[in-house]
Amino acid sequence: MFVDGCFWHNCPEHGRRTPWTGPNAQLWEEKMRRNAESDLRSTRLAEELGWIVVRVWECQVLRNPNLMAARVLEGPSNC
Ligand SMILES: [Zn+2]
Repeated sequence: MFVDGCFWHNCPEHGRRTPWTGPNAQLWEEKMRRNAESDLRSTRLAEELGWIVVRVWECQVLRNPNLMAARVLEGPSNC
């Protein structure tokens, strides 16, 4: 199970919705793109190794930890 932080993994609800600005804008764009690529790679690698991958957002866990725990127990069909 991966719990993706809303900021670093660009949650649809809490991720950045506007382009980065300032002198480090390009660095931020690249950093966030690398994070997204890494997430995809991690999921694929784990699945290739036979793991069932469940990904949830940080905010989902904070809002309802019991529901997220239940999803892990129930398996990927409910995610
Ligand atoms: Zn979020």
